[in-house]
Amino acid sequence: MDKNSLFRNLPSLDSLLRSEECSFLIQRYGLRAVTEALREAISELRKELEAATDLAPYAYLEEGEEAWFEANAERLIRIFKVNEEPILRPVINATGVLLHTNLGRAPLGEMAGERVKKIISSYSNLEYDLTRGRRGERYQAVEPLLCRLTGAEAAMVVNNNASAVLLILNEFARGGEAVVSRGELVEIGGSFRVPEIMELAGCRLHEVGTSNKTHLRDYEQAINENTKLLLKVHKSNFALVGFQAETSLEELKNLAKAQGIPLYFDLGSGILHPEAKSILPAEPSVMEALSTGVDLLSFSGDKLLGGPQAGIILGSKEAIGRLKKNPYTRAFRVDKMCLAALEMLLRAYLDPEKINSEIPIYNYLCTSIEDLAARSDNFIDRLAACGLDGELVESRGEIGGGSAPGQDFPSLAIVIDPANYGISAQEVERRLRALEWPILACIRHDKLYFDLRCIRECEEEVLLRGLLEVFGD
Ligand SMILES: *Cc1c(COP(=O)(O)O)cnc(C)c1O
Repeated sequence: MDKNSLFRNLPSLDSLLRSEECSFLIQRYGLRAVTEALREAISELRKELEAATDLAPYAYLEEGEEAWFEANAERLIRIFKVNEEPILRPVINATGVLLHTNLGRAPLGEMAGERVKKIISSYSNLEYDLTRGRRGERYQAVEPLLCRLTGAEAAMVVNNNASAVLLILNEFARGGEAVVSRGELVEIGGSFRVPEIMELAGCRLHEVGTSNKTHLRDYEQAINENTKLLLKVHKSNFALVGFQAETSLEELKNLAKAQGIPLYFDLGSGILHPEAKSILPAEPSVMEALSTGVDLLSFSGDKLLGGPQAGIILGSKEAIGRLKKNPYTRAFRVDKMCLAALEMLLRAYLDPEKINSEIPIYNYLCTSIEDLAARSDNFIDRLAACGLDGELVESRGEIGGGSAPGQDFPSLAIVIDPANYGISAQEVERRLRALEWPILACIRHDKLYFDLRCIRECEEEVLLRGLLEVFGD
């Protein structure tokens, strides 16, 4: 028996599919899934065989399909199990980053989640006016709440803030110029960059000022007969430090008013929390921004608002009315899951008692260091009871998700040194990702840091079991 002859005797996909052993698999999983799984199994087997020095365990390869299925039953079960698992799954965020774009930004609270489930499992009055018995407004559930909470005259919601920007530029600046500071020509991520969005929206970008300084007179000088909109973009994912100047929203509003040009503020991350100033002193709240009299304002639903992915637009009745008629509004419309979640989120904001309990990110953000220390110490005791060593250290949490740049906050982390278990930090990190309920942590100086801040108490058990699985091996 040599390797070459074994390779020659590897059964073909076709012969495996035609064999009797395969027919019940096909009945159970369907031809397509079985073909895929067999392909994967054959390719794994080839790799193993290439690396093998002892060929005895592969002797069955010369005995035909029946022996092949018998020898590879476990392999196939494993492959089917992995392939049947949904790809999108919950993960444990032990990074201490509150809004992680890769991890779905803001998680939804219990009440919002329950409401989404209820609305989508049934028909609903999504666009039906139950009082009048005729077609209704898609935004009926959220527009009045947004106006009540912010004091805005009118409101609408689109798919995300990127689409809000595109929609507003297209409606208000199409065929003309939008004036924006060079210090605010941001890239938000991927291919979303202000200059490119302008082009797509059909308007010309009129840049003013310099990267670090833009004065009111720069805007004044830029205004001409083609100017259709003044745009201000919140520096939400970077910070300018040192020698810098930007024109305030108030100054811009006065200029816009004097010139009869609308002013739009892309706020990025919209804060409605009434006590946000004590939590995030440098971030402007939605109410503050609106109070300057800006004509249009937009922000994300899943950043510091703490809700579903959405782009929320506030403004005058007239301005929102125009936007509602723009064809992009139809293309960017939100679905019932988003609206059901958003309605419950906004209802939580109506009751200050409910904010921290119903909106997970504020629950996490407002956890005191003392409470976090008590939870972490308790967790370290549970680790110790299972024979794992963890140590509590001071660390910094982050807002993340393109919000509140440079504003980190004090947090705590449990450090585990993988050297004590004879594995590398990279290997631990890989195993944590491969868990059925994956765990994401930080590596610093070859050690693993687990911050419990963004982890629900009911997830601690999952974290514990995951760590035992990874370090227990
Ligand atoms: C995040 C952000 C956006 C994009 O918002 P999404 O909801 O992610 O589409 C646009 N503008 C600013 C200033 C932002 O911070």
